[in-house]
Formats: sequence, structure tokens, C-alpha cells
Amino acid sequence: MQNKKRVGFIGLGVMGQAMAQHLLDAGYPLFVYNRTQSKAQALVEQGAKWCESPRQVASETDVVLTIVGYPSDVEAVYLGEDGLFAGSREGQIFVDLTTSSPKLAIKLSEQGQEKGVKVLDAPVSGGDLGAKRGSLTAMVGGDQEGLEAVESILKCFSHSIVLHGGPGSGQHAKASNQIMIAGTMTGMVETLRYARANGLDLDKVIQTLTGGAANNWSLANYGPRILNEDYSPGFFVKHYIKDLGIALESELELPGTQLAYDLYQKLSDLGYADAGTQALIKLWWKDEAED
Ligand code: NAP
Repeated sequence: MQNKKRVGFIGLGVMGQAMAQHLLDAGYPLFVYNRTQSKAQALVEQGAKWCESPRQVASETDVVLTIVGYPSDVEAVYLGEDGLFAGSREGQIFVDLTTSSPKLAIKLSEQGQEKGVKVLDAPVSGGDLGAKRGSLTAMVGGDQEGLEAVESILKCFSHSIVLHGGPGSGQHAKASNQIMIAGTMTGMVETLRYARANGLDLDKVIQTLTGGAANNWSLANYGPRILNEDYSPGFFVKHYIKDLGIALESELELPGTQLAYDLYQKLSDLGYADAGTQALIKLWWKDEAED
């Protein structure tokens, strides 16, 4: 306990709260900040120290983890007047776990270099359940030395931690992940629509398909939530639109990703921006009736 690094954690939403909890459980001295202070309450009651700004988090810690919403939030947390760099000192390591833009990850790493701070990008996958269970996959951009320095911290909530290359590579790996999920979410929704339209028992369909070649995370995790009419996040529709937008910044033609982007945009326009991504089926199952 005595030798444990002092860890800062910024962003205590669906993912961050659960991840920070694992760090407390592992005995790390924890320093927290979030835009809405009340979300830190449970952690503070268990011994985490509340800080008034990212700047204060940086000044009190050795390593800082961030998982906020959008690239603009990441910029504010790192580069703002009271941001992390305003309170940083040489030898610190900052790890951004937000799903954000590869270009911003490179910019932060370069700014960090000027201040003697290593900045790694390490977006995660595995969803809200993965965060709660501590079984996330972390996709890291940076260098081996930086990763080794924080690996035991990331292991508190990740089962798989892979260095993909230099700064921004973790974000590119995560964009690849989100491109794959464009296929599994649209496929899962069409599978359920087709099966129900043909009179099949959907519980049986999910059970059978997850045991065969069609098995995938979206079907196994979000299929049952749809059958329970649970459209809560999980993973926000608004964040998935952000992620698909990042992937579509590529010069490559990605027609499946574009289709998923258009469908999710339509869903958001219908008022589902704050729902979970499984709400995609609501484009067709309005009030539980296919129209
Ligand atoms: P969330 O519940 O919206 O959490 C984001 C948190 O960041 C919120 O608590 C928010 O504060 C805080 N925040 C935003 N800007 C801030 C700022 N400038 N200073 C301090 N705190 C700030 O979202 P989430 O579901 O945890 O997702 C977080 C990130 O992880 C997103 O980039 C998402 O794409 C990614 N991700 C999510 C999942 C998932 O399944 N949920 C899976 C993998 C990756 P408020 O409390 O004031 O809103």
C-alpha cells in the first residue's frame, strides 16, 4: 500500500465510476475530479480525495487516468486553463481512456513531451459490464516504457492490454473496433426483426445463434436487453455517433460504417441520443410493433 503510485481519475460517468472503484478496491490512493461533483460521492465516501480541477489532480498524483465523453472534453481536461498540463511536472504519466481522435492523441503526446510528461492513449472496449467486472480490453498507443509504468494500474480493470504502436495507435485500434461493431449492431437488429417477423421465439434464436458462427458480443449482450425492453445506456447512442464520425474521418471508403452512422443519426434525431445503442431496433419496433 505504501509504495503504490498516487492515481488521479477524471471522468466518473458510466465507465469511469466503475473503473475508479476497481482502483480503490486495489488500494491505490485515489484523487478524483468530474464535471458533476455528485458522481464522485460514492468514491469519496470510500476514501477517494475530491479535487477542484484537473490541475489539482495533476499536482497531487503520479499517474492520471481520464475517461470523459468527447474529444472536446479531452481538450478541456488536458489543455484548459485549469487543465492537467497546468498542474503537471516532469516524470508523470497521463493516460487517456476516452474514445477520442487519433490526431488529438498525437497532439497531447507532443505537448506532454515538451513538459516531460508521457501521454498514452488507451481507449477501452467491453462496455459498462466490462467496466464493472474489470474485464475491459485496453488498446494502447505510446511506448513500451510508458505502458510498463502504468500496466499494473490498467490491469485493475482490464483483462487485455495491447500496445498497438506510437501515439494515436490505440485510438486507431479502437476505431477499428467500432467499425466492426457497426456490422454487429446492424446485423443483430436485422436478425431479431427477421426472426420475429417469421414467428420465431427470440430467446431461442439468441441462444442458438450465440452458440454458432453468428455469435458476437452485440448479440450476446444487447440482444437480451432488447428482449427485456431495456434501452438504458450501456453505451450512449450519442457516443457511438461520435465514434463512427472519428472512423469516417479516414480517407478510406467505409460504406457499412457510413450506413450505421446514418441510421444512428436518424435514431438520435428521433430523440434517442441518450439511450443505449441497442435502441437501434426502435427505428422499426416502435411501441413493440414493426410498422
Ligand atoms: P459518460 O457516462 O457520459 O461519462 C463521461 C464523464 O466525463 C461524465 O461523468 C462527464 O461529466 C465527465 N466529463 C465530461 N467532460 C468533462 C470535463 N471537461 N471535466 C470533467 N469531467 C468531464 O460516458 P461513458 O459511457 O462513461 O463513456 C466515456 C467514454 O468512454 C466515451 O468516450 C465513450 O465513447 C467511451 N466508451 C464507453 C463505453 C460504454 O459502454 N459506455 C465503452 C467503451 C468506451 P458529467 O457527469 O457532468 O456528465
